[in-house]
Amino acid sequence: MKYDTIIIGGGMSGLVAGIRLRKAGQKVAIVSAGQSALHFNSGSMSLLGHEQGRDVANPLVAIERLHPGHPYSKLGAETIRKYASEVAPLFAEAGVTLKGSAERNHYRLTPIGMFKPAWLTLEGYASVDDPKSLPWGKVLVVNVAGFVDFYPQFIELGLSKAGLECVSRTFILPGLETLRKSATEMRATNIARVLKDEVVLEMASQINSYLKETGSDTVLMPAILGLYDENPIRLLRSKVVKPIHLVSTMPMSVGGMRAQMSLCKYFQKLGGTYLIGDKVTAGRFEDGSLKAVSTQNLGDMPLEADNFILATGSFFSHGLEANPTSIYEPIFGLDVEASEHRPEWCDMDIYKKQNYMQYGVVNDDDFHVFLQGRRIDNLRAVGAVLSGCNSMKEESGGGVSLMTSLKVADDILNGKGGKK
Ligand SMILES: Cc1cc2nc3c(=O)[nH]c(=O)nc-3n(C[C@H](O)[C@H](O)[C@H](O)COP(=O)(O)OP(=O)(O)OC[C@H]3O[C@@H](n4cnc5c(N)ncnc54)[C@H](O)[C@@H]3O)c2cc1C
Repeated sequence: MKYDTIIIGGGMSGLVAGIRLRKAGQKVAIVSAGQSALHFNSGSMSLLGHEQGRDVANPLVAIERLHPGHPYSKLGAETIRKYASEVAPLFAEAGVTLKGSAERNHYRLTPIGMFKPAWLTLEGYASVDDPKSLPWGKVLVVNVAGFVDFYPQFIELGLSKAGLECVSRTFILPGLETLRKSATEMRATNIARVLKDEVVLEMASQINSYLKETGSDTVLMPAILGLYDENPIRLLRSKVVKPIHLVSTMPMSVGGMRAQMSLCKYFQKLGGTYLIGDKVTAGRFEDGSLKAVSTQNLGDMPLEADNFILATGSFFSHGLEANPTSIYEPIFGLDVEASEHRPEWCDMDIYKKQNYMQYGVVNDDDFHVFLQGRRIDNLRAVGAVLSGCNSMKEESGGGVSLMTSLKVADDILNGKGGKK
C-alpha cells in the first residue's frame, strides 16, 4: 500500500499533522499502537508555563529566550504566533472547544487545588486570569458519591488558602446506582457514559438545591461528563442557576479522551486511514530515505510512502525506551540525544529537573531525524519524541506537539527540506 505520508503514532501530534495533510488532499495513513498522552490530559494545553522556576505571563515573549536547540527556537516566535492562532479553530472543526491566548497565559485549577499556567483550556473547565484575584465568590464543590478520583478536600484547602469560602456536598444519582455496586466501576469514563440527558437534568436539580441551601456563587465539580461530545456539559451549564466549572480528575481524563476521539473521527471523516491497535515495528531504508514500514498486524505487507512522520511520543508511549545501560528509539534505532551516564538520567529529588524528560530523537532545524549520523530525508519527528525541551519543567508539552506537527505537515506540503 502506497501513501503520500505515513504517520507513526496517533496521539495529538500525529492526528494534527494528519488532519493538516489530509485537508490539503494528501493520501495519509496513521498507525497508532494504543493510548496517547491525551488520555491523561489535564483539560489544558500548555505552550510555555514556566521559565527558570517562574510562571510565564506571555509565552510568545518568553519563547524568544529559550536555548537554540529547543523546538520552539527552531520554529521562531513568528511561526509559533501564526500556528498558535490556528489551533483553537482546528480543534473547533473537530468539535472540541478550546479557549485561551498565546500572548497571555491563564491559570487552570488542578485536581489538588493549585493553579497552573495554561495556554488553551477545554470549554467548561475551571480557569481564571489571575489566581490572586479569584472571581468565584463562595464556592460549592460537588462530587458524586463513590467517585474516588476526585478530592474536594484538596480543592477546598487550595481555595481557602486563596481566601475563598468553600463548602462541599456529595450527591447520589439514581442513574449511577448500577455503577456504584462496584467501587472499581466508579471511574470518570464509566460515569461519563451515563451522565447525559435526564441524568444530567437530575444532577442539575440536585446542584441547584445545594446552591440554595449553601448560598454559594459558583460550583466546581469533577470533569466526569462529556466523553463523546460537549452536549452534556452545555446542558448542565444551562440548567444550573450559577456558573459551574469542571475540574480535571485523576486519570483517565474524560476531556482528553474526548479530544483524542474527536480528532481521530475528524481525520477519518476527512478521508484519512487510521490503523488503530497496530504498531510499526521496522523500516526499510535506501540511500538516506525511508521507503516503507512494517507493522505488527500487516506482517509482510509493508506500507510505503513518500514521507513519514514519527509521532510516537516519549517514554510514556514507548516512543523512547530505556534498558539499564542506554536510552533508545525502539522502531528504527534512530540517533537519540541522551546522556550515556545513567546517573545523569534522573535526580532522586523528584522536584528537581529530570534530565530524561528532555531526551529524544536527534533532529535538525526542520525536524528531520538521523540514523547513525545520517540525516533521513523523508522522516521527520514531531511532538513528545523530539529532544531539546523539558516539557514537564517548562509546561510546554502541548504546544511543542501542536507547533511541530503543523510545521512539519506544512513543510511536507511545500516540498521543503527534502533530499540534501
Ligand atoms: C501522562 C501525560 C499527561 C500529559 N498532560 C498534558 C497536559 O495536560 N497538557 C499538555 O499541554 N501536555 C501534556 N502532556 C505532554 C504531552 O506530551 C503532549 O501534550 C502531547 O499530548 C504529546 O503528544 P504526542 O502525540 O507527541 O505523543 P503521545 O500522546 O505520547 O502519542 C504517541 C502515540 O504513538 C503511539 N506509538 C508509539 N509507538 C508506536 C509504534 N511503534 N507504532 C505505532 N504507534 C506507536 C502511542 O501508542 C501513542 O498513541 C502530558 C504528557 C503525559 C505523558
